[in-house]
Amino acid sequence: MLKIEDVVVHYGVIEAIKRVTFEVNKGEIVSLIGANGAGKTTILNSISGLIQPTSGEIRYKNKPIIKTSTRDIVAAGISQVPEGRRVFNGMSVKENLEMGAFLRKDRAEIQKDLERVYESFPILKERLNQDAQTLSGGEQQMLAMGRALLSNPEVLLLDEPSMGLAPLFIKEIFNIIEEISERGTTILLVEQNATIALEISDRGYVIETGKIVASGSAQELLDSDEIQKAYLGG
Ligand code: ATP
Repeated sequence: MLKIEDVVVHYGVIEAIKRVTFEVNKGEIVSLIGANGAGKTTILNSISGLIQPTSGEIRYKNKPIIKTSTRDIVAAGISQVPEGRRVFNGMSVKENLEMGAFLRKDRAEIQKDLERVYESFPILKERLNQDAQTLSGGEQQMLAMGRALLSNPEVLLLDEPSMGLAPLFIKEIFNIIEEISERGTTILLVEQNATIALEISDRGYVIETGKIVASGSAQELLDSDEIQKAYLGG
């Protein structure tokens, strides 16, 4: 579904990503785990066309997408939920959700997807006319996810969905991620909270200072002593 091949990314002279290769198969939940500053967000931003890699290739359904605009990448079926649950302040919850569908013309289908988002996140339905910036952190995360889902993505890129949330909210968000996956969306999940990410994942990759240093099934990573010590607090 998604293939990242030998991708290198520079910020000025700094090589933030060093020949990273990995893939996400259709229907999988794949986690990219690693410490602060390891390069996780940079990889997601490369996939969604927000930054241009120096070299390497990214393929989506076997087609190179590295020089494609973000708009075209979203239209092709890849949607990102940015870190820090960036919602549009000064716009209502409903307007934020509608922004997610701005490239679509299939009104009836949009309405269906909207209903599905309300099912997953009933709180959003209760707050439709409220300014997005007045939502709690967890609600904003839900809104950012709902907005991404309204582009009807085949692949959802999630950047640190647990960040800054209370444990109860984290559990709820991760349950919803699993539900989204069960409906057929492929998910690439970036998390510092490695345990909770791996618990819902099929596979995982560990990234350290711009390089992939370990990979395996989620269970293998959860069981590994080394990974336990470095990332799982065990
Ligand atoms: P975090 O969870 O803190 O976002 P991350 O794993 O997502 O961490 P990135 O944000 O991808 O890491 O950052 C990777 C490296 O690139 C870091 O060393 C960071 O300081 C650097 N970096 C990120 N964005 C920029 C930028 N716009 N200009 C210069 N350096 C950057």
